[in-house]
Amino acid sequence: MTELHGVFIDVEVADAVSGDAELARRLEEACPVDIYAASDTGVEVVRENLDECVLCGLCLDAAPDDTVVVKKLYDGTTLAR
Ligand code: SF4
Repeated sequence: MTELHGVFIDVEVADAVSGDAELARRLEEACPVDIYAASDTGVEVVRENLDECVLCGLCLDAAPDDTVVVKKLYDGTTLAR
């Protein structure tokens, strides 16, 4: 079946921080469209919400530099602060 989520946007969280429960909570709180879900094992990217991203950059502010990347698949660039 074709992947229907994340057509326009993809988000990557670096392996080095994806298991950080505190960062996971910050990301969950920061994103207005619930792209991040915090669990005991760290952060999960909620794929069905990816294309709701409003490119606000709040997740980049909440994470250490270069650990979260928001990719604009439609033009091949990434969101930068
Ligand atoms: S840029 Fe904004 S809307 Fe997009 S994933 Fe980050 S916090 Fe969520």
